[in-house]
Formats: sequence, C-alpha cells, structure tokens
Amino acid sequence: MKHTLPELPYSQDALAPAMSAETFEYHYGKHLQTYIDNLNRMIEGSPYEDMSLEDIVKKATGGIFNNAAQTWNHTFFFQTLTPERREMPEKLVTALTEAFGSTEAFKDEFTKAAISLFGSGWTWLAVDADGKLSILQESNAGNPLTKGLRPLLTVDVWEHAYYIDYRNRRAAYIEAWWNLVDWEKVAGRL
Ligand code: MN
Repeated sequence: MKHTLPELPYSQDALAPAMSAETFEYHYGKHLQTYIDNLNRMIEGSPYEDMSLEDIVKKATGGIFNNAAQTWNHTFFFQTLTPERREMPEKLVTALTEAFGSTEAFKDEFTKAAISLFGSGWTWLAVDADGKLSILQESNAGNPLTKGLRPLLTVDVWEHAYYIDYRNRRAAYIEAWWNLVDWEKVAGRL
C-alpha cells in the first residue's frame, strides 16, 4: 500500500507563533514527505509492501524501519497538537498522578527527559499492557511500539523540529509545545 502525507487537524499557520507556518512548510511538507517517499520506494516489491504502517514499524529493521517509524512518529506527533488550549481530562489527571505523583511532576520529568536526550530523537509517554505509564527517551526514529508499549504522547526533539523558530533553544521549544498538546487525544489513548 502506498503511504501518503497525513492530513493535519488544523491549518499550517494555526499553531503560530509557538510553531510557525515556515516550520510546517519544512517539518511537515518536506521532512515528513521525504520519509514517506523513501518508505514507499523502499517497500516496493518487498514483504512490507502490503503491511500496515504500524506492522512495518514493529517488524522492519534498518532503513525501512527508520523511514516507517519516522512516518508513524511524525503523524502521531502532528495529530496530537491543537491550536485550542485543552484541559486535561480527569481520567488522565488521575493516571498521571498515580504514576508520577502529580501532573506537574509528570511534566517536569518529561521535560527533563526531552531536554537531556542526546542528539536526535523522541521523548514518549507510553503505557504497558497492565496500564503502567512510563516516560521513554528514544534516539533517532525509536518508537515504544517495538517494546510492546502503546504510545500516548510524544515530542520530536530532532533539531529540524525547532531550529526555524527557536534555533538551538530546545528547552524553549518544549515549553511552548506543552501549550499545543491535545490532552483529549492523549486521554483517549489510555
Ligand atoms: Mn521531525
């Protein structure tokens, strides 16, 4: 199956100034499009050709994994943002409080993980089969699906995610990103 650029649930200038239209032009329109084009080219004629994107992420290695996971990760990342300030649903507040002590303690721990991730990668909130929540640092295209975990939330900390709007200031980007998170979507994945 041919993979295509996912639709955004908002316009490309809707998240400015936290995330500018120029960032979307490059991050969504060029970086993500390139991962999708590479994936389609690499799976042609291979056993992965008719697999769902999630199955490719779980089963592939090497270049096919990298491009499939980057496609999955970016789709998930962009679809979890919203221009409307969303309150955290009660069931998510309860789950985060049980796991981390409070929602603020969760945010602090997640922020520290995202800032301290060396090089390119993704910071995740994920849940295991028993409902236990954890924060993961994944390098490059890493995705918790490969560890049998279900992703709830992610932030992209590759430099291409923030260099246009924040230059080298990853912490400022993460601080602004928190205000864009669609908590209803995160809670819906619990
Ligand atoms: Mn990215």
